[in-house]
Amino acid sequence: MNPTPRKPLMPLDDALATLLAAASPALPTEQVATFDADRRVLRQALVSALHVPPQDNSSMDGYAVRCADLAHALPDRPVVLPVSQRIAAGHAGVALQPGTVARIFTGAPVPEGADAIVMQEDVVLSEENGQVMAQFRMVPKAGAWIRLAGEDVTRGAQVLACGRRMGPAELGLAASLGLAELVVSRRPRVALFSTGDELVMPGTVPPEAMPPGAIYNSNRFFLRALLQRLGCEVSDLGIVPDRREATVAALAAAAQTHDVILTSGGVSVGEEDHIKPAVEALGSLALWQIAMKPGKPFAFGSVRHASGAAHFLGLPGNPVSSFMTFVLLVRPFLLKLQGVTDTSCPVLALPAHFDLPKADKRREFLRVRRNAQGGLELFANQSSGVLTSAVWGDGVVDLPAGQTIAAGERVRYMAFADLIG
Ligand code: AMP
Ligand code: MG
Repeated sequence: MNPTPRKPLMPLDDALATLLAAASPALPTEQVATFDADRRVLRQALVSALHVPPQDNSSMDGYAVRCADLAHALPDRPVVLPVSQRIAAGHAGVALQPGTVARIFTGAPVPEGADAIVMQEDVVLSEENGQVMAQFRMVPKAGAWIRLAGEDVTRGAQVLACGRRMGPAELGLAASLGLAELVVSRRPRVALFSTGDELVMPGTVPPEAMPPGAIYNSNRFFLRALLQRLGCEVSDLGIVPDRREATVAALAAAAQTHDVILTSGGVSVGEEDHIKPAVEALGSLALWQIAMKPGKPFAFGSVRHASGAAHFLGLPGNPVSSFMTFVLLVRPFLLKLQGVTDTSCPVLALPAHFDLPKADKRREFLRVRRNAQGGLELFANQSSGVLTSAVWGDGVVDLPAGQTIAAGERVRYMAFADLIG
């Protein structure tokens, strides 16, 4: 009997396009304190209601002067002027009278009439009849050491676009506009569960007492951490046994109260793989099996509930497959669901410092790390079960299907730092 002809696997880019299309419309919005908005996605454009900085201010500790008063200063013939006021940060001075200078500190507003700051290191002080006098030995450039109002942001300018993810710098910028609250996407509610009767939770059985065939559940730990970094509210539903009814029950229950269901394992073609039929019984699969290595048995679809449907994403059980399909597919999906406009990952062209003589039919993601020479080294064991590769490596080479690599060639590199979080 001829084996059933195999359906061609779906290219990764097509799978990603399907996921991104399904992640629209984005989740509803909510208002949060800017303080708590790290990693949240903006759903409003941020427009500045003021200049930043709000007024011209000194970028040095020194003396605010009128350049015209110092026009004749020379190294051997200083101009000596009285210090008429002292302006510290947070305090406004008064207009600077011609023929006087003001002591000024970093961040303090430049008094009206002053057109340069001379740094204190270039000024010698003296006293005449109780009046502090300052000696200047050169002519400052107009505008020296003055930070102009609006130099960072001008009033009315858009500083951050809708769909931008907040990070530390973005939070600071939002705060500099006076914004105490931001409109962001509601956190995705994600139900996470692992499948596999062989799985044991660390802490429940010590290593020396592990029964034959048992392994510790590692996927649960990194998937949970990856989800949390993406701003998700994670319901960790534990381990579902490899039984059809248990899988159906777990999926159906999770769909009621979650936007997304994420599973690991049980999504291949074996008799012990119950995820696919369970999803098909409760909803539908939009795609299954992708032409990537590692990570072929990835599934995407939806699970219906009384008033709609939850998105379903099924990851392979092998830890590296699980990890790679998460960062390449689930991550962009979850970002788009929160309204992120650009979900792509930066790609660098770096020289391979290794050979890969054997091509694969699938697009490959090789765990590599950058060396001190700016090249990439390959982790020796690229098996989908070897999680050490993802710890040793600092990123992956994205190798098109059917291609080999000769040392020295430039390859596409994506850093884990950009793929995680
Ligand atoms: P599966 O996709 O269920 O066929 O699992 C493929 C391989 O990944 C098997 O060797 C499993 O034991 C392993 N595996 C599945 N789930 C996990 C997990 N949560 N942690 C570690 N290994 C897993
Ligand atoms: Mg399994």
